[in-house]
Amino acid sequence: MSLALRLLGTSASRPTVERNVASLAVVREGETFLFDCGEGTQRQMMRYGVSFGLSDIFFTHFHADHVIGVIGLMRTMALQGRTERLRLWGPRGAARMLKRAEEFGMDRLSFPVDVVELEAGAAVTRTDYAIVPFDVDHRGSRSLGYALVEQDRKGRFNPDLARELGIPEGPLWGEIHRGRAVTLADGRVIEPSVLVGAPRPGRKLVLTGDTRPCPATVDAARGADILVHEATFGDEEAVRAVETGHSTAREAATVAAGAGVGMLVLVHFSARYSRDASDLGREAREVFERTVVGKDGMEIDVPYRDVAG
Ligand SMILES: [Zn+2]
Ligand SMILES: [Zn+2]
Repeated sequence: MSLALRLLGTSASRPTVERNVASLAVVREGETFLFDCGEGTQRQMMRYGVSFGLSDIFFTHFHADHVIGVIGLMRTMALQGRTERLRLWGPRGAARMLKRAEEFGMDRLSFPVDVVELEAGAAVTRTDYAIVPFDVDHRGSRSLGYALVEQDRKGRFNPDLARELGIPEGPLWGEIHRGRAVTLADGRVIEPSVLVGAPRPGRKLVLTGDTRPCPATVDAARGADILVHEATFGDEEAVRAVETGHSTAREAATVAAGAGVGMLVLVHFSARYSRDASDLGREAREVFERTVVGKDGMEIDVPYRDVAG
């Protein structure tokens, strides 16, 4: 089951020559989600090969650099003749804000748009994963971070031992693997724990949107494979980060260290770092070594922990 994220925009507030404004695509086994949709996101999607055939866009908050791209993206989807429903998710206020986006422009859209307002903790649950919103701390605005959390997978089945025990290969193996005890023709009862290992953890991917470093992110990101955290400023602008409700790279790293994540990905850089964000990387790595400085188009694979090589 593949899981990868693709950074579509890593600039804060406004686009620069090098970076577009906020958006991130997650592709899980052919299913695409978008998180935030700043101006120009549709062109970034084309550039980096992200499918327009997506069904869900999640918004962290409604500052312009995270949302106005959805107007153009929906127009293009309509031009392409889309008829499938599009679901837009966001914090309270989403309905008012996104209805306007839907109505902006002369023509009606060719497809239905659902807008769903989310509260922290109200997970969007799908077959084998959930997307769990959590409150972040961004200038008093209603802002959410999101955790994509996969369910644990079944433990490994031991075929050699099954043969040794004389359990015929076939439906019985499946039964046992699904956690059911089976009775063999000779009356023996085989408990699944004999043949099936412990459940194996799914993956967890967490992104913050705009925020000060906050305990809610540490909680949500505990044990995550990847944390995508905003890092608008460097140490030299630490005061400004407080004033504007953003984080420094070092603060993002402190959150990553507190949560014990596998990897920290920094995004949402102030224009002054657009060309060269290496100082941000250096400052973050002083606190948390496994830090990557994001850039537009960067693709990051998320392997299962038990098969990572
Ligand atoms: Zn922003
Ligand atoms: Zn913001």
